[in-house]
Amino acid sequence: MKLSHILAGDRVTVSCELFPPKTGAAWERVDDVLRDTAALRPDFISVTYGAGGSTSKRTLELAARLQDTYRVPALAHLTCVSATREEVARRAEELRAAGIENILALRGDIPQDAPFPRAGQFRYANELVSCLRSLPGGEALCIGAACYPEGHVECPHFAADLDNLKRKVDAGVDFLTTQMFFDNDVLYRFLFRALRRGITVPVLAGIMPVISVRQIRRSCELSGTVMPPRLQGIADRFGDDPAAMRQAGIAYATEQILDLIAHGVNHIHIYTMNRPDVAAKIMDNLSAVLRPNGGD
Ligand code: FAD
Repeated sequence: MKLSHILAGDRVTVSCELFPPKTGAAWERVDDVLRDTAALRPDFISVTYGAGGSTSKRTLELAARLQDTYRVPALAHLTCVSATREEVARRAEELRAAGIENILALRGDIPQDAPFPRAGQFRYANELVSCLRSLPGGEALCIGAACYPEGHVECPHFAADLDNLKRKVDAGVDFLTTQMFFDNDVLYRFLFRALRRGITVPVLAGIMPVISVRQIRRSCELSGTVMPPRLQGIADRFGDDPAAMRQAGIAYATEQILDLIAHGVNHIHIYTMNRPDVAAKIMDNLSAVLRPNGGD
C-alpha cells in the first residue's frame, strides 16, 4: 500500500525502522526482529540503506519480506551518493519488481575516502527524486525524503536549508521524515517555518529512544542534533546503568510522543534500531493515545 494513502487524513500513525544487520550472526536473527516489529502493528516499517549502497540487496530483501510474509507496508531507503543514474534506475526497477512502491530518497553522507561527486553521479537528493519520477512507472511511486528540524550539518544557514528542502519537495516528494530531535519546540518551530515556505506535504516526526548514551552522543555530534539539558541530565545520571537508561529513554520518548500528539503532530516515526522490545514498551505506554477506541 502507498504511504501517501496511509498518511492522508488526520488519524495518528506510528511507523518503525529497521536496519539490515551486517554481521552473519545478527543477520541469522533478523527474522525475529522482523516478526517482533511487525507484531506491533505499525502503519509501516522502513528499512535503511547502508552507507554507499553497502546493504542494497539486504534492504530490498527485508522490505519484500515485511510485505510478503508479515503483510506490513514497507518503505525502502535508497541513497544516491555513490551511484550513477543507471544504477539508480536498476535499483528502482528491482524494488518495483519486488512490489515495493514506497521509497525514501536520500543523498547519503558524502564519502570521506573518495572524490565527490564523480562524473555522472548525483550531488543532492532532489536530483534523485527527479530521476525516480522520470523513470518508467515513476509517477506511481510514493516518494519520501529526509528533513532536518535543526538544519542539516552541511548547510550553514537554516533559511538556505529550507530553500533546498522546498526544491526537493517540488521535485516530487510525497512526505518527509525528520532527523531525530529531542526538544519538541524545535520541531514546532520547524513545522511553522516549513509551512510558511510552502512545504505542505505530511511530516513524520522521527523519535529516537535513547538507550545507549555513548551511541547517541556520537550521533548527535555527527548530525548536529542538540541534547537538551533535561536529557543531558538523564544521560549523566543513568548512562552507566543499562537497565535504568533503557527505562529512562523509554520514558523520555513516551513523553515526547505524547506531547507531539497533544499538539496535533499525528505521524510518529520511531527509530526502532532493531529493538522491537523498546518500541513495544513505548507503544504500550501510549496504547490508547496511539489507537483511540482500540484502533477501530
Ligand atoms: P540533501 O537533501 O541532498 O541535502 C544534503 C545537503 O545539501 C543539505 O545541507 C542541503 O541543504 C544541501 N542541498 C540539498 N539540495 C541542494 C541543492 N540543490 N543545492 C545546494 N545545496 C543543496 N543515510 C544512509 O546512508 N542510509 C539511510 O538509510 C538513511 N536514512 C535516513 C533517514 C532519515 C529520516 C534521515 C533524516 C537521514 C537518513 N540518512 C540515511 C542520512 C542522510 O543520508 C544524510 O543526512 C545526508 O547527509 C543527507 O541526505 P539528504 O537526502 O537529506 O540530502
